[in-house]
Parts: sequence; C-alpha cells; structure tokens
Amino acid sequence: MPALTSDRLQKPVTELKGVGAALAEKLAKLRIFTIEDLLFHLPLRYQDRTRVTPMGAARRGDEVVLVGQVALSDVVKGKRRALIVRLQDGTGSITLRFFHFNAAQQKQFKKGTLVRCYGEARPGASGLELYHPEYKLVSAEQPPELDDHLTPIYPLTEGLTQNRLRQLINLALAELKRTEVVDWLPQSLFPNLPSLKQSLELLHEPPPEAEVEQLLEYKHPSQHRLIIEELLAQQLSLLKLRQQHKHHQAPVMDNGQHLCEQPLAQLPFPLTGAQNRVVHEIHQDMTTNSPMLRLVQGDVGAGKTLVAAMTALKAIGSGYQVAVMAPTEILAEQHFNNFRQWLEPMGLEVAWLAGKVKGKARQQQLDKIAEGAPLVVGTHALFQEQVQFQKLGLIIVDEQHRFGVHQRLSLREKGRQGDTYPHQLIMTATPIPRTLAMSAYADLDTSIIDELPPGRTPIETIALADSRREQVVARIAAACREGKQAYWVCTLIEDSEALQCQAAETTFAELQEQLQGLNIGLVHGRMKPQEKAEIMARFKANELQLLVATTVIEVGVDVPNATLMVIENPERLGLSQLHQLRGRVGRGSQQSYCVLMYHTPLSYNGKARIAVMRDTQDGFKIAEKDLELRGPGEVLGTRQTGLAQMKIADLARDQYLLDTVNQAAKQLLQQHPDHIEPIVQRWLSGAEQYAQV
Ligand code: ADP
Ligand code: MG
Repeated sequence: MPALTSDRLQKPVTELKGVGAALAEKLAKLRIFTIEDLLFHLPLRYQDRTRVTPMGAARRGDEVVLVGQVALSDVVKGKRRALIVRLQDGTGSITLRFFHFNAAQQKQFKKGTLVRCYGEARPGASGLELYHPEYKLVSAEQPPELDDHLTPIYPLTEGLTQNRLRQLINLALAELKRTEVVDWLPQSLFPNLPSLKQSLELLHEPPPEAEVEQLLEYKHPSQHRLIIEELLAQQLSLLKLRQQHKHHQAPVMDNGQHLCEQPLAQLPFPLTGAQNRVVHEIHQDMTTNSPMLRLVQGDVGAGKTLVAAMTALKAIGSGYQVAVMAPTEILAEQHFNNFRQWLEPMGLEVAWLAGKVKGKARQQQLDKIAEGAPLVVGTHALFQEQVQFQKLGLIIVDEQHRFGVHQRLSLREKGRQGDTYPHQLIMTATPIPRTLAMSAYADLDTSIIDELPPGRTPIETIALADSRREQVVARIAAACREGKQAYWVCTLIEDSEALQCQAAETTFAELQEQLQGLNIGLVHGRMKPQEKAEIMARFKANELQLLVATTVIEVGVDVPNATLMVIENPERLGLSQLHQLRGRVGRGSQQSYCVLMYHTPLSYNGKARIAVMRDTQDGFKIAEKDLELRGPGEVLGTRQTGLAQMKIADLARDQYLLDTVNQAAKQLLQQHPDHIEPIVQRWLSGAEQYAQV
C-alpha cells in the first residue's frame, strides 16, 4: 500500500522534539499517534486577535480585541460585588466586569488609561460587557500587539494545554511544508476546492483576511475540501465492502418458483405492485452466485412478511435451508406462527428455536435443523448456540431496529462456509431518507415497498393537552367496555431508562385506581424478558384490556383488537419513533385512534412534529420531516458509530453536501478505483476500516 501522504508524516509523535512517552500517552487519548494525526486534529473554532474591533461594531457573542480609554471605574455592590471598568474608543463604549479582583487592580484603571482587552461581548446590565477579559495596559505610542493569523482552539484532553498542543501542531506543520502530499481527490471532480495540503495549512493557521464567519460555520472552501473527502472516505469504505462481499460465493437459487405460486393461490388478496416488484428484485439477486445483501424498507403494515415468505420459498424450492431471525421472542413467535400457517399445508417443516426452548424440546428442534428442516424461525439463539444447519442458504433478519455497520458485518459472517456465504435479506420498518440511506447503508442494496395494501382504514390521530387526561381515561374505559383493547405509552422523562420505568409504574398504579374492573398490564424495559413476554401474551389473548408500557412496545407486535393508543408527552419523541408506536394500532378492520397527549406549553418544534403526525401516516414522509426537524444523528441513532466519530464532517451540519458526495463516490469508483483505498486509509482509523473482512 502506498504511504498515506509520505513516510515522514507517518512517524510517531515521539519523533517530534520534546515529545516523550508521557505526552504521547496524553495525545493517544485524542487518538493522535502520528504526525499526520496531529495535522488532522482540526480546530473546533477560532479566536480573532488579528485586529482591533471598534466598540461600536462589536456584537453580542463576538470574541473581540478592543482598545479604549477608561472613562469610569467603580466597585458596585449589587447581587455580586464587582469591579466595573467602562472603556470608550470614540465609536462606542463597553464595560469590563471583574468579580474577582484585588486593590492593585482596582487602582490600575485610572480615568484616561489606555487598555487593550480580549473577550466575549455579552449583553449585561450596562449594554455590552466583557466578563473577566484578558487585558493589558498599553500606551498610546505603542501599536497594539496583534496576532498575524486567527488563533485556532483545539479539542483538548486533561493535562494538555492549548499552547502545548499548538506548539506540537506547528512542528507537524513544519514537517508538512517539507512534504509532498498526494491529492487522492482528483482535481477534476472538485476544480474549485483547494488542495489537501493548502486546506490543512489554512485551517491550522488561517491568515487574518480569512473569513472568520465562514470558518465558524464550516463553510470555508478549505473545510469543504476536508469534509467532502471525509464523507467520501466513509462512503467508499462501505461501497468497497459491498464490492468485496460480492466477490464471495453464494448458492445459486434458480428454482423454487413453483413453491412460491402455491400460497399465493391461496391468499384472499393479490400482492401489491410494490410487493411484486421487491420480490422480483430479491429473486434476481438469489439467482446469481454472489451473496445477496439486501435491505427491504417498508412501512409498518406494508406486508413485509409475505415478501419474506416468497424469499424463503424460493430458497427452499432450490434445495436450501432458511433461517428467519427476529429481535425478540414475541416477534419470533409471531413469525413462527405465520410461516407455519403457510408452509405446513405444503408439507414443509418449520423448526423453532428461542432462549426459552429448553431441554428435550430444544434437542428435538436442534435435530430437526441438523436433519435439514427447510425453515427455522428464532431469535439470536439461532446463531449464538451450537446450531448445526444442514444446508443453510438464506438468512432473513426482521431487524426493526437499525443496525450499525459492525453489527451488519458480524451478521454477514454467520452461516459462512469457507468462501460461501448465505444470501441475506434484512427487513426494516423504519424508513430512512434517501441521501442518508446512501451514506449509512451504502454497503447494502435496498428495495422499498412504497405502497400499502388497499383498503386500510387510516388511524385517526388526535392531539390533546394533558390537562384533558380525565377525558382520555374515560374514553379508554368506554372502548374497553365495548370489547376493544388499548395501549398507554409513557415516554422518556429524561435520558434515563430507570426514570422512564418509574413513570410507567406510577401511571400503571394510577390507572388501576381510576379504571377499576379493567385488567391492566405493565411492561417496561427493566423487566425480565420472560416477564415481558408473559404480559404481552396475556394482552394478545385479550386477558388484559389495557397495556401500560414504555416505548419498548415499539417493536412490531401485532394485536389487531387493540384500536386505541394514548401516547403521553409525544413531543419528547422523534417522529419516526412515534410513527412506529402508532403502527401498533390500526392493524385490524376497525377504526383505530391515536391520542397524542402533549404537555403544555409546546415548543415550536414540538408543535410542528405533532402537526406532522396528525397530517400524515406515510412513513417516508415522516422520516423526511424527522430529518428536517431533528437532524441525521437522531434519525440514524447512535448505532452508526462510524458516522458519529468523524474528524471534521458532521452529518447534521453537512447533510447538504451528501448528494455531491454520493455523486463523487460513484465517479471515483468508475474512474479512479485505485484512489479509493488511499482515501479510506487516510481518513478512517484501523478499527473503522471495515474492509479487512
Ligand atoms: P409489516 O410490513 O408491518 O411486517 P405484515 O407483513 O405484518 O406487515 O402485514 C400486515 C398485514 O397486511 C397482514 O395482516 C397481512 O396479511 C396483510 N397483507 C399483506 N400483504 C397484503 C396484500 N397484498 N393485500 C392485502 N393485505 C395484505
Ligand atoms: Mg413485520
């Protein structure tokens, strides 16, 4: 592999003058190991000490150098004793405020003394003020000492000062000056962007004429240059992963069409156009000898289970075994029952494996699997245990949650035999907007079921202030008396699961008090899986009419008789999560209702989100809105660790660049495939280079 930039920059930081083991250890905490890492340790922000700002031009929030004469100096009592010094420069005046000061300091500020100071201008009792500024008394003859470039402020770690880090980066910059840096990003792709070397130099030592505003907003061309390259690296690493995976072998499944026809003929309805299209895309993949890795996105209720069945039957018909994995036992059991219903009449055996299957029953299932049962449904237990498949050819994962790259990778390894991998289908009910999908899921092919089966009764969504809680409780009582079932969802109070569970317990106790005669259940994240499953099963069997729950029920449970859902404090949740929750009702033929019981006063953003929920039930529209209102970090979740740890790019701030990056990635793949590896290497540290699979 060619050196990233040059061997010189690859040297460890200890090669720099004055850097010993102790300092290297501190730098390691910032993930700085080499001279190059120092160069890529970019400033968080800048201070501008290159010029004096006229006082009349200072704005709140500006960090400014000011020079002015003392007009007045006084110790005020007020809430906190403070020394205040009023400066003026002919364009305006500003007040310095010191809470800690000594007598000598107090005497310094005689009327007429010239003072140079630096600090952040904040609105105070007497107009703009600088609290505890750095300052110096100066004389009129002496020109003010100013820096010749903006001062970078770096992320630090304990025991390391800005000054020390700046010195080190200066040493690294000196090395950079002596080095020729290869630009792996072809000039032709981005003719208007500066080179990598120029960009790094500028960002560490911006000249005084550099646009501070632009820099602070990360809109400077030098920043663009780096952001684009980093986003590209991220995406290329995934695309590369996909290419590599495609080179593996997979079973060719060009049979099995006949098996698919059978259940279709029995169904009381035809597949939707979208289901047909997606099944076709999947079947195409399966007939090639490279492993399928396809993500199917389909809104809640879009009919993903049937698509999964059509996928499974094609594999079975081609003589292979299929494993269907769900994230929880409840969901796995649901799938087990569905698949059995379709497959057993065809004489196909379905095995079942979950944590709770124990002893003899377990051995029986394991034997079935080893003897080649065509379909196996289960939880993670399917892969964590000593399960011997006879001829596994396809894995279907009903993920519901979004997996990060690392989880997808480990999944990929499952069922591998030598260089042969099973085909894989991942199903998710949480749509992600297109641009984001391209960045976060570039290692997968995607299909979208963008159409719901006809004849669904839309859920009626009602927003009510929580002052009308009694009315809501009465409504639940009425619905349950009519034989219907309801959910009551308690949301996150703070970022604490413990508190959330507590809230659910309190609500549960209150509702039991208020709704005597109803059978009420409670599920929350701190209960044992077994306990949760039991309560869910009783709710499903209609032994419980009301289920109080935390957001744990988000995952696709199907209780068609549940037609009412109350969500407390919906303003605290993201839109996609609300959409998932709401999808628990409206699953039968009856009219369903979702009551969003919000807490007043609602923020502007909270209002906007509730309005979206009331106005639409289209998961993709909701996802787009969610992205707009909350940003990609929230939408993707923290699992996308690779995307969360970028050096300079920030998906939330830089999402407007994603389209450009997607285009560039494609061009690079086609026109400069040899540049991909170096770009990925340059930006992604070893752990993030998913490529060594
Ligand atoms: P999800 O995509 O949320 O997993 P399911 O597969 O559970 O959705 O399907 C939801 C419901 O829609 C099921 O009751 C299923 O039988 C029904 N369904 C699936 N496909 C169709 C179709 N083409 N026409 C009518 N109903 C359908
Ligand atoms: Mg489903």
